[in-house]
Amino acid sequence: MSLNIEKLRGLFPILHQEVHGKPLVYFDNAATTQKPQAVIDALTGYYQHDNANIHRGAHALADRSTQYFESTREAVRDFIHAKEAAEIILTKGTTESINLVAATFGRKFIGEGDEIIISTLEHHSNIVPWQMLCQENGAILKVIPINDAGEIEYDEFLKLLSKRTKLVSIVHASNALGTINPVKEIIAKAHEVGARVLLDGAQSTSHLTVDVQALDCDFLAFSAHKLYGPTGLGVLYGKREILESMPPYQGGGEMIKEVSFDGTTYNEIPFKFEAGTPNIGDVIAFKKALDFIQDLGKDAIKAHEDELLQYAAEQLSEIKGFIPVGVAKDKVSVLSFCINGMHPFDVGVMLDARGIAVRTGHHCTQPLMKRLGLEGTVRASFAVYNTKSEIDVLADAVQKIARIKNK
Ligand code: PMP
Repeated sequence: MSLNIEKLRGLFPILHQEVHGKPLVYFDNAATTQKPQAVIDALTGYYQHDNANIHRGAHALADRSTQYFESTREAVRDFIHAKEAAEIILTKGTTESINLVAATFGRKFIGEGDEIIISTLEHHSNIVPWQMLCQENGAILKVIPINDAGEIEYDEFLKLLSKRTKLVSIVHASNALGTINPVKEIIAKAHEVGARVLLDGAQSTSHLTVDVQALDCDFLAFSAHKLYGPTGLGVLYGKREILESMPPYQGGGEMIKEVSFDGTTYNEIPFKFEAGTPNIGDVIAFKKALDFIQDLGKDAIKAHEDELLQYAAEQLSEIKGFIPVGVAKDKVSVLSFCINGMHPFDVGVMLDARGIAVRTGHHCTQPLMKRLGLEGTVRASFAVYNTKSEIDVLADAVQKIARIKNK
């Protein structure tokens, strides 16, 4: 069933404004998506009616807050089809989720001479934590190369895999190019050598159906703010037996069973990994974002976004001086490009003057940009509330801007 986009846009108050005297065209969704009114209302509603610390309170507000908080955990479980809610750890975001795995699983199970495999497509948050770990424990970081279309070289991945591989940590969908990696195959192959697999789902979870049991991934990290939810909140999914085998991340309240000066015992998962008072209000509001996605249906969202991506690629490729960056066969709705003779930042500023919000630069993927021989790109990324007529506005603007250097 196709979506009623105009009606759906009505749910997002921020979209209905002018920027520099022009209607806002928001194409920076890979950086963060906008929030529907229901999410905003849930956040204010929490502080107006329910605010209390969770889990240990002996009063009605604490009970209510706890119940709402835990119902988001259950909604996340359902969203990624995890076996049980205990496998859902609530974090600050993808970055913290990956750092948590590096600091706990990494320190305990990866040692000197062991290998971690990542890819050239990675966001810095799936590079730096592993570099820090390798520096600390003498493990070795291996990187899967890519082809010029921006796809990983799968045969090279197979060559890198060995008995020394302890972890494959790979992006599901690239934020810079949109490339979707063949993660199901990667996971199966990694498991054959006994390695665990972490998926960076920061971009994939908003566009694709991600079923952790069907994929059989060991960890999945993602952020609420790219899923129409609040900032400063994310998820780490992990299989129960792995999470139970890992030491805690941070020490403090909530993560303990019993504390004495002779020693401390730790709480059950997921609480073992959730020290301190969490981001309660945002967690509660996040459920409304998940409801929003589930109500529309992932298939309908993907169909609409695929159509936008195809339309944008067609419209823009007509333009003299337009250079697409990353032309993988399998992509989420991210269109990265350069304009011949122009710096991406200058293009971004000129688009902004026309009310069009895009991201320019290296997109936190400097090694990828180096591989592509680029300083950066212009990135237009589409969400479910974007329309073809907005893409017409972009195409018209890009045409005028490109003409400056491409007569
Ligand atoms: N990985 C990818 C692929 C991303 O796109 C992002 C956000 N740009 C991150 C990781 C980091 O997410 P966060 O900043 O929300 O922790």
